[in-house]
Amino acid sequence: MQYLFRFEKARPSQDAMLADIYNALDSGRDILVNAPTGVGKTDAALGAALTCALENDLRVMFLTPKISQHSIAIEAANGIKRRFGLDFTLVDMVGKKNLCTNAEVNCFGSDSFYSACERVVKAKSCRFFEKYRAMAEGNHDEKLREVVAEHAGGGHNKLFDACFDAGLCAYEASAYAAKRATVVIGDYPHILNPGIKPAFLKKLARDLSDTIIIWDEAHNIVSTASSYLSNSLGTWTIRRAMAELSLIGDKTDISYLEFALSKLASDKLGAMKMEGAFVDIGELSGVIMANLDELVRMFQERGLEYSQKTKAKRSALLHIARFLSAWNTDDPASRRIITGRGKTARLAIECLYPGRALSVFGEAYGNVFMSATLLPLEMHANLLGVKSADMRSYASPFPRANRLAFVDASATTKYECRSAEQYGRIADRITAIKDAVPGNVAVFFPSFDVLKGVHRHMKRGSIYVQRSDISSAELERLLREFKGSADSLLFGVMGGSLGEGVDYPGNIIKGIVIVGIPLARPDIALRARVEYFDGLFPGKGSEYVYTTPAIVRALQAAGRAVRSESDRAVVVFLDSRYRYGVYSKLIRDTMGLVDGPDCTGAIKEFWRDSKEAARAVA
Ligand code: SF4
Repeated sequence: MQYLFRFEKARPSQDAMLADIYNALDSGRDILVNAPTGVGKTDAALGAALTCALENDLRVMFLTPKISQHSIAIEAANGIKRRFGLDFTLVDMVGKKNLCTNAEVNCFGSDSFYSACERVVKAKSCRFFEKYRAMAEGNHDEKLREVVAEHAGGGHNKLFDACFDAGLCAYEASAYAAKRATVVIGDYPHILNPGIKPAFLKKLARDLSDTIIIWDEAHNIVSTASSYLSNSLGTWTIRRAMAELSLIGDKTDISYLEFALSKLASDKLGAMKMEGAFVDIGELSGVIMANLDELVRMFQERGLEYSQKTKAKRSALLHIARFLSAWNTDDPASRRIITGRGKTARLAIECLYPGRALSVFGEAYGNVFMSATLLPLEMHANLLGVKSADMRSYASPFPRANRLAFVDASATTKYECRSAEQYGRIADRITAIKDAVPGNVAVFFPSFDVLKGVHRHMKRGSIYVQRSDISSAELERLLREFKGSADSLLFGVMGGSLGEGVDYPGNIIKGIVIVGIPLARPDIALRARVEYFDGLFPGKGSEYVYTTPAIVRALQAAGRAVRSESDRAVVVFLDSRYRYGVYSKLIRDTMGLVDGPDCTGAIKEFWRDSKEAARAVA
């Protein structure tokens, strides 16, 4: 079988992956794919899906959680076009704000951008939109076709530049291209957010029945979809909204909102000194409930006025409007929870399980769910509600001997064991491991609190440290400096921007220490989620909600060092709990574990062997 694959030769796992995905889709089944770094899953998934799509007059949608992950899919699809001389349309779709060519509207913050765009479109005062409309509706869309044909496949930035030069709205042009496209690269919210999906599909003038969807980084789908369906309002937001009102000279008194939240907190939590409590829909103050629609309208209007006047990126008034409009949503998988301490209170609508967003999988012709950490596959098939899907896991193409993983049980970050003495012991172990590794070592912690606690005990210099409030510019600089060093430590947190998604090329990390297990705080929302999952998947609540996601976060961070066939590194899981079956099984299955009482001797030996091997090759 000849698949549409952009390279002459596929890697061994890619061959299997191409065939597995094609066969599943061709037989009308979804497929879950666990493919470690280096397998080349984007090329294999796109190649198999496109082969099936072109044979059956279907389309392919490639969705990622972040825009930064689009470029690899664009490269893969363009590579297929070039190699096979195909001329299908490929378009890179991102949010409207990123493709707005009207500088007077684009400058609005994301909260008010959409209504600003709507206003100028209604008033026919956006010249970019008017020019697009004249071309698209006037049956003389040659120029539009030309711009789209030449630039849509080059990524959204190229299309933006071309549309700007041609005086066209780049968002409308990309939607115009997407209507006719065989491949659309997009973001999760386009299809996964029930608030965005209908408008997006309407724009594309299609449903999903003729579309194969490839979900990249699929281990994130459930938590991301839950976040789209959750919302919260805190007293600090209400205070910010008061300040916004006074900035626009509006004297409306909204202090009753803060009073309502504080009263709810004191009624529900006060006497029992509870950390959180469930709230029923009707328990929000009667005045608010009786005027909900009117209040939503008022907060929306004032929020837009504030955004237009100040050009602020965000508006607390608009945030309140969104929260109040979501309050009455009747979703059996949602819980309303009040928490509070002192003078602050927070009322949250927590989506425990995003079933209503995940129903979209059934609308598509087929789905490919792929990730480098989609283990255990059965768990993800259950969570995604695709139990009859095919499931495949592929071996890492990198030589196993290039990475050794150990458990160091000499310390723990277990909550009740945290102490200065424990942190000192962890600092000593990190130092001993660093001394055994000839090069940079990255250390990932379960939280900033533990990071700070251990950092205080480090006697060694040259440590690059991630702060909880670090800006993206500072983070980039920190990474640049660390990547330029040869014998340093990097301290970051698991699940944060240094522990996931970021690449450390050129084998610049020779060792990784995973300190503790990044378990979520067992608060009232987490406990409610565990209970809800126990109802959906009997006996699996804690595993699905609590333990496995923590291990996946640890594995994501542990996977940062070995990114190519020639990279070599050691990984140490530093916590006695990693010896327990529930935690060690997934690690053992993913990267193997070397057993032994003290890892530092084995680490020195590993690097001594590497030097000898390198000398022998030289
Ligand atoms: S129609 Fe297009 S160019 Fe005009 S404001 Fe909206 S997004 Fe921007």
